[in-house]
Amino acid sequence: MKSAFLTEPRNIEIRETGMPVVKAYEVLVRIAYCGICTLEQRLYDGQRSIGYPIVPGHEASGTVVSVGSEVIGPIKPGDHVVLDLVNRCHVCPACLSGNSNLCESRYAKGQQVLGAFSTYMAVKPQQIQVIPPSLPLEQAAFAEPLSCCIRSLRKVGASLGQTLLICGAGTMGLLHLKVALAIGVRVIVSDIDGKRLEDAARMGADLVVNPSDIVAFRDSVRKATDARGVECAIVTSCAPSAASSALEVLAPGGKLNIYTSYGDKPPLPVDMHTIHRNEYMITGSEGRNESDFFCAVRALAYGKIVVDDLISNIYPLDEVGAALEKALAGNVYRVLLEMQGT
Ligand SMILES: [Zn+2]
Ligand SMILES: [Zn+2]
Repeated sequence: MKSAFLTEPRNIEIRETGMPVVKAYEVLVRIAYCGICTLEQRLYDGQRSIGYPIVPGHEASGTVVSVGSEVIGPIKPGDHVVLDLVNRCHVCPACLSGNSNLCESRYAKGQQVLGAFSTYMAVKPQQIQVIPPSLPLEQAAFAEPLSCCIRSLRKVGASLGQTLLICGAGTMGLLHLKVALAIGVRVIVSDIDGKRLEDAARMGADLVVNPSDIVAFRDSVRKATDARGVECAIVTSCAPSAASSALEVLAPGGKLNIYTSYGDKPPLPVDMHTIHRNEYMITGSEGRNESDFFCAVRALAYGKIVVDDLISNIYPLDEVGAALEKALAGNVYRVLLEMQGT
């Protein structure tokens, strides 16, 4: 089998390795596709490091090859699956209170959360979910990012009859758009990139606005919301101006979710008095729990969320370096790696 090892920033190489030893309580999966997420891009360009050498990859789909003797449940060879590689301990207060995305052991040594830039992986049964064969495996690779968007929208409680502002029309912004539309929310998308706004409009956004001119931005959002502003806003762009633009148009009682991660630690661009007077609820969301992931898998399987227009390029595993450079170039949506046939 093959894996792509990142040995230092901007140096990733394919190595032949032995097949994983599959323990009795594990499942062997032949990986089909893996998306290149922001995390992989940051690991590759050196903005973030979790040690070397490392095999990146956490947005994967594949097929079950074999099932260990102690695995209980309906998983069988030939099943198409998606991978949710976070290892949740199920015994810490975060896990026991329904927030297993914040599992206190999720970064502990040996907790495998990456590794899917590989042709095969041995995983625990709770790290996979079975999908119907009708769902293309390249679209199934979106289950992980989609589940994070579902968590984000649950955090702000976006619902029918409300207007949501999504700041940033990259892959994650547009995935938020698809989920919000599927649950009947009216959506305004903002971005400084005209092409991305066009794509958002084509994908069904009710209004697209460029926040470069903040006065014009505020006016158009206010006009679209009877001068009240939006009930909820989600920040998917790490430009600090994205969060400030959201706060410009948040209605009294509004909810704001900081979805994006940041390379540094910018302060919240709002004063405490304004939060008090408007009863703003400001929250963050990171990752997803099992329920978010299950919901994402179902939404994809039922055709309620269709993501084929968010796949910009598919590269064979052997061209992983070129694929990462392409993803980093910034003018694309998801770049996927295809693991087989390489
Ligand atoms: Zn991801
Ligand atoms: Zn835990």
